[in-house]
Amino acid sequence: MKEPVGTTGLIFNEPLLWERGAKGRSGFSLPPRDVASSHVADDLRGDGPDFPDLSELDVVRHFTRLSQWNFGVDSGMYPLGSCTMKYNPKTNERQAGLPGLAVSHPLLPQELSQGALKMMFDLQHYLAEITGLPAVTLQPAAGSQGELTGMMVINAYLQSKGEKRSKVLIPDTAHGTNPASATLCGLKSVAVKSNEQGILSTEKIAELMDEDTAGLMVTNPNTLGLFEEDIQKVTEIVHAKGGLVYGDGANMNAIMGIVDIQKLGVDVLHLNLHKTFSTPHGGGGPGSGPICVTEALEPFLPVPRVIEKDGKYLLSEDFPQSVGKLHAFYGNFGILVRAYSYILTMGADLHKASQYAVLNANYIKESLKDVYHLAYDRPCMHECVFNDKLQAAHKVTTLDIAKRLMEYGFHPPTIYFPLVVQGAIMVEPTETESKETIDAFIDTMRTIAQEARENPEQFHEAPQTTKVKRLDETAAARNPCLTG
Ligand SMILES: *Cc1c(COP(=O)(O)O)cnc(C)c1O
Repeated sequence: MKEPVGTTGLIFNEPLLWERGAKGRSGFSLPPRDVASSHVADDLRGDGPDFPDLSELDVVRHFTRLSQWNFGVDSGMYPLGSCTMKYNPKTNERQAGLPGLAVSHPLLPQELSQGALKMMFDLQHYLAEITGLPAVTLQPAAGSQGELTGMMVINAYLQSKGEKRSKVLIPDTAHGTNPASATLCGLKSVAVKSNEQGILSTEKIAELMDEDTAGLMVTNPNTLGLFEEDIQKVTEIVHAKGGLVYGDGANMNAIMGIVDIQKLGVDVLHLNLHKTFSTPHGGGGPGSGPICVTEALEPFLPVPRVIEKDGKYLLSEDFPQSVGKLHAFYGNFGILVRAYSYILTMGADLHKASQYAVLNANYIKESLKDVYHLAYDRPCMHECVFNDKLQAAHKVTTLDIAKRLMEYGFHPPTIYFPLVVQGAIMVEPTETESKETIDAFIDTMRTIAQEARENPEQFHEAPQTTKVKRLDETAAARNPCLTG
């Protein structure tokens, strides 16, 4: 094995800011006051909040040290399946920080916001081009909110036809947000079992689809990293019964610029701009989950919508069939700027990102399948799913493998998801990792497999070299210790 990435740099302990500093210490100095002090100011000030008194250096060290406890895409490989933790080029941050964009206020008159509105209008157009679905709203603040919006649009469409349907089909590989969004829209989820190949079978869909079913929510490629090969037949069956197809586009990183989503028979698709279109994410947001829809569904999109009229860009509420407003103002604008910047930077090469992402995942799958059991041994898209079957004899579990990986300087993959694979280890390398880094990951995974055979006991204590060692996962979630 090659030299490990190294994980034993200096890690400083760091107290809370309240435990740092000293009374009267300050991070700035003001010139002496040249007017008399006013009792009004003193009365208003009172005792003030209990903020610590700190010097500039106290503050700088505090936050620098905290940042060193963190692991991010900027510090190492982060192969978290379904989350597309690709490297986010710094130029996107730079564009989002441009004063004209960063300090533009959503309440500014539209005449003074032409640049921002044009950018949003153009971004809608690019996303329509990339997906093949012609109408777009940028409002939803996350993929899950995109799902909610999309299901509301589907309900509104069916209602406009005088229909009210009560169920929706959702494959057993779906992300948990799919049934959650359906439930919020008053639809009952009907689980669809995937077949032995890990994909949907047309027979199963034909058996379950009926006139009380609003449609199907499908992720393609699905969360096993497999392309739904019969998708066109599946969507035809749904349409034939008057249903619509919701596409969960969280896995767009495998197919952007390559697959025309409308041709698959998808009526609504959400994109996770923060995953596929390069915005740093994790820790709960902010995100952006635009939805792209067919012409037939356009009238139902949320308002306001960004439109162009006589060479001017406007926000229009003039869509009487709209499902209404889903977010304050027009969505998470800063994320839209980053996606716009990313798309312009990639230009006509956008599809290459997907090609490399798929190549990298297949390389990892082929390089590790003799030491980790593959749930479905067939070509994958941008991620591949192993499990801990081969390690079970040594009583080493997926959790142990994930914890051990941290000691070698890699963020663990997604584990125990998708639920249909027991002990799943879901690896998504993304296109931005170099061959050397991917080889180092493969070497490390192979070393861990060997350790599991030869020295399994140590696994239950891993990780030891990190700031926080092995946690009781349940207690850590229920009683979080926030002081480090
Ligand atoms: C991430 C993800 C979602 C939800 O998106 P958020 O932006 O986290 O709300 C939905 N489906 C799949 C497959 C995902 O990976």
